[in-house]
Amino acid sequence: MLDYVSLEDDLDEEERMIRDTARQFVEEKVKPDIGDHFEDGTFPTELIPEMGELGFYAPNLEGYGSPNVSETAYGLLMQELEAGDSGIRSMASVQGALVMYPIHAYGSEDQKERWLPGLGTGELVGCFGLTEPEHGSNPSGMETYAEKDAGEYVLNGSKTWITNSPISDVAVVWARDRSAEDDPVRGFLVETDTDGVTTNKIDDKLSMRASVTGEIGLNDVYVPEDAVLPGVEGMKGPLSCLTQARYGIAWGAVGAARDSFETARKYATDRDQFGGPIARFQIQQQKLAEMATQITTSQLLAHRLAELKERGDLRPQHVSMAKRNNVRMARDQSRIAREMLGGNGITTDYSPMRHMANMETVYTYEGTHDIHTLILGEDLTGIAAYE
Ligand SMILES: Cc1cc2nc3c(=O)[nH]c(=O)nc-3n(C[C@H](O)[C@H](O)[C@H](O)COP(=O)(O)OP(=O)(O)OC[C@H]3O[C@@H](n4cnc5c(N)ncnc54)[C@H](O)[C@@H]3O)c2cc1C
Repeated sequence: MLDYVSLEDDLDEEERMIRDTARQFVEEKVKPDIGDHFEDGTFPTELIPEMGELGFYAPNLEGYGSPNVSETAYGLLMQELEAGDSGIRSMASVQGALVMYPIHAYGSEDQKERWLPGLGTGELVGCFGLTEPEHGSNPSGMETYAEKDAGEYVLNGSKTWITNSPISDVAVVWARDRSAEDDPVRGFLVETDTDGVTTNKIDDKLSMRASVTGEIGLNDVYVPEDAVLPGVEGMKGPLSCLTQARYGIAWGAVGAARDSFETARKYATDRDQFGGPIARFQIQQQKLAEMATQITTSQLLAHRLAELKERGDLRPQHVSMAKRNNVRMARDQSRIAREMLGGNGITTDYSPMRHMANMETVYTYEGTHDIHTLILGEDLTGIAAYE
């Protein structure tokens, strides 16, 4: 497995163990069927509790059943899962970074005890509802709102492109609280079987097909007052969750690229044309050399992020740089790998084109490539260029 500058030498025992567990899980449980799931547009739901048992949901949190592993271990986990498929990594990212993290960081003691253990084991599934039909890159424009009514909140609005909403037990819904001054954004834990909640599945995706995506409709949905996350108000709530998830994506994308590279390297040594393996041609070697270099530099950035996160020095802008760079890298390199596989490369028998298609989603969600460019631009110049 590509590790050109021996980053593995610096892993501790726990990090190696988590990496190896995830790698074995992907080899045995994901790779055999994921091409079929991608073709059918289904997620292997039987893996949800298994991933929980193996500790794949938010193991970097502390307490309520989470072991508080290192940020490097968490990153390696995301890398291995996405080497299987971005849909598998998305399952772990959403459940861990976008649902368990906000409950852990901003929830009441009761909310933590009620939700975290079941989400951690995969007995329960959660989703994160921020994007709306008219508000994607600018979620602060959200129209979904909550109003107090006789000791309860009533929610109205709609969310779209929500990973796992059709299979979720609980949704973290971000909405403007019209009962409070200045309508602050607040997070609500909405059980999806509550009257007035609908979660239609979005079909016809050409990317991230092995992942369930849906809408959340909220039509006079009454939730108790204690369904609100008490510890946060404003866009800081959802944005801080996105920083956690984007950190995992920066690592995960490297896994997709590495799997594409390994597939192309093996294919090039096995496939004969003009009387010998195509790997002997300089053009093919140039492609492998470039891929290996790009993957290695992205790995270095991910490892550095882990160090900064571990010591509390990670800024959201660091994460933007890594998400932006590593996903673009994986998008480009999976395409090069696909091309090295010739005609066979366009089938689901090989992973690169599946990774390449998935990267179109990963390039777009959790802040598009353009939006991360603007975040970096603002950080570098002090001038915001969003509007
Ligand atoms: C498969 C999938 C799963 C998803 N899962 C979730 C989820 O679980 N929860 C959730 O809340 N959301 C989720 N999303 C939504 C995702 O985060 C949004 O699609 C993303 O934020 C972009 O929003 P948009 O699609 O509305 O595009 P738009 O915001 O309409 O952007 C369209 C284009 O305009 C560009 N653009 C926008 N603003 C600017 C600007 N200021 N300057 C320059 N260019 C700009 C964008 O970069 C993009 O190229 C998911 C999306 C997909 C595809």
